[in-house]
Amino acid sequence: MRGSHVVRLFTANGCQSETIPNSVETGPWLVLFREDSLFYYRNEPLRVTSPRTDDGAGGRAADRDSGGSSAAISESLSISESEINQLLDVTPDDVGAASELSFARNVFVPLTTACRYTCTYCTYYDPPGQASLMSPDEIRESVRMGADAGCTEALFTFGDDPDERYAQIHEQLAEWGHESIHSYLREACEIALDEGLLPHSNPGDQTRAQMEQVADVNASMGVMLETTADVQAHGGPRAKSPEQRLNTIRVAGELGVPFTTGILVGIGETWRDRAVSLLAIARLHERHGHIQEVLVQNVVPNERWREDPVPVETTRRAVAMARAALPETVSVQVPPNLSPVRELLDCGVDDLGGVSPVTDDYINPDYAWPALAELRDIADVAGVPLTERLPVYERYVGENWLSPRIDDAIHADNEAGRRYQSVLNN
Ligand code: SF4
Repeated sequence: MRGSHVVRLFTANGCQSETIPNSVETGPWLVLFREDSLFYYRNEPLRVTSPRTDDGAGGRAADRDSGGSSAAISESLSISESEINQLLDVTPDDVGAASELSFARNVFVPLTTACRYTCTYCTYYDPPGQASLMSPDEIRESVRMGADAGCTEALFTFGDDPDERYAQIHEQLAEWGHESIHSYLREACEIALDEGLLPHSNPGDQTRAQMEQVADVNASMGVMLETTADVQAHGGPRAKSPEQRLNTIRVAGELGVPFTTGILVGIGETWRDRAVSLLAIARLHERHGHIQEVLVQNVVPNERWREDPVPVETTRRAVAMARAALPETVSVQVPPNLSPVRELLDCGVDDLGGVSPVTDDYINPDYAWPALAELRDIADVAGVPLTERLPVYERYVGENWLSPRIDDAIHADNEAGRRYQSVLNN
């Protein structure tokens, strides 16, 4: 089939994805058409992942192996065939509804919309020249508003490390005395703590050095795994890699950072990829105990993603698989502004994520957060209590998971400390 093919390039520095446009895979060859010429690349040492032919929106994506990263990852994490097949057999009938639903009250702080990647379903990132960077004053104003409204969490969102194309962002950071976005994130987290909110940062992929730079000023952190597969939705000249995201999750475990991750459903992955993704998260949690919650998020149509919505039956099965793959202590979260949560309640959902009484959901601005009253209504439909939580789950508080800076903030005898403690004691 002629089209774009994502190839894995194995080099001395590891492996990376690259999209070869206008090409066709035939036998051991990847044939590239360029103007009047044909180029033949021997399909070694390239490992070619086939163009996706399953339903990107999720419907009846095949249970087959997609090859590429999912296969390599299941091997490296010792995920067995029987585990995968067992999880593929799970249906909503095999899991139970949760006995309560939790949520966190947050303020959304889109620190920068610069991103080195160009995922085709994402409306969050802005190209170089258009990307924003919040100033310290804007951050302070935003988090102060959140604290005044009774929030407990400052949710710092990013693209992924702005690369050299974002000259303006780097110049602005330098003007403010920062050599990197992580150095600036540290200052942003300090502002949030000063104003009475607990930071939860999602800066995309992170190296160990980057995470170490900010771990002690975060109550928890996160990155969406999305999928272990190489999908064309991550393609383009700068494709993010599942190995890097898994490495970020592993580094968080090694550094003892309570962590949030999740899968994105409907970006071209197969059912088998979904199973491997969930089992990979479960395996890293087995090793480190640091995964506090796993989102199951269906991709939604927007100005950059014109595919059909993910069928609700697909999301139901994916949520049930997450519940079955993870220990009971790890929450399964569904974002109520993006998913038909009332139709998922019997599939094991026990958390509704962060809801903001004061800011929009900047990652999905077309989909407004429901009011807290809406969450209560969802809990009423489920017939369970709705409980507020902190951005760090209670089981990590007082168990040597938190840095002294965060532990002191939570137990401080001041207005913010009393707000955190009242949430812990509710
Ligand atoms: S999904 Fe994340 S990594 Fe991909 S373009 Fe958007 S902000 Fe960047």
